[in-house]
Amino acid sequence: MPIDATRRALILKELGLLPLWVPRDRPRSAARVAPAVRDATPAPAPTAELDLSDDRSSLILRMDWSELKQAVRGCTACPLHTGRTQSVFGVGDEQADWLFVGEGPGAEEDARGEPFVGQAGRLLDNMLAAIGLKRGRDVYIANVVKCRPPGNRVPEPREAAQCEPFLLRQIQLIGPRLIVALGKTAASNLLHTDSSIGSLRGRLHAFHGSPLLVTYHPAYLLRNLPDKAKAWEDLCLARDTMQRLKAGERSPN
Ligand code: URA
Repeated sequence: MPIDATRRALILKELGLLPLWVPRDRPRSAARVAPAVRDATPAPAPTAELDLSDDRSSLILRMDWSELKQAVRGCTACPLHTGRTQSVFGVGDEQADWLFVGEGPGAEEDARGEPFVGQAGRLLDNMLAAIGLKRGRDVYIANVVKCRPPGNRVPEPREAAQCEPFLLRQIQLIGPRLIVALGKTAASNLLHTDSSIGSLRGRLHAFHGSPLLVTYHPAYLLRNLPDKAKAWEDLCLARDTMQRLKAGERSPN
């Protein structure tokens, strides 16, 4: 069961993780979102706390899983659709406690329709294993953009913005206890900040009411081996945070 905002705040306080970091360029009210929706039935979106000013977003934020998958499959909202073999929706346990968010599909992901199946994906699987996790088992993996940017370039802000409601709806439907942003693109788009990974990692942030941690992207770690030690610290923090969140949720009021 998702925990309510008061209980979550108490748990986070106990963890010494308050105040949660909220991006300065986003008003607190906009960054606060609704309780996570763990039920995969087409529950109404928590409209009271979401910005539904845009019709397209509003529609997406009310979709159930199958509607959402279909919408992503057929999406033509930005130019990335012209170069895709297929869109890459996301993979894993739709009720997962853990959500890992990457940047966007590369060549192998575009060919296979699954996120993180290339070399970076193999490292991600090893990172998950290091903290006792496995793809698909209490873990969901998604990307900021669902279609491959040409030449694996960083998605442009306009492209990421068109895809944002899809990711937001995935997060609502999953209702993860903890989100891990992999790399700068995921961190920037989720937290709406330009801050570096170095300055964002090591502390808990809030994404629409869900705790969020930032670490390096596996593809970056493949090129910058010394930073693997820092990524390991981040994973340990994530594992400990999850343990404490779960323990806090179980403990009596
Ligand atoms: N890099 C990402 O960010 N996502 C993928 O799915 C693959 C590589």
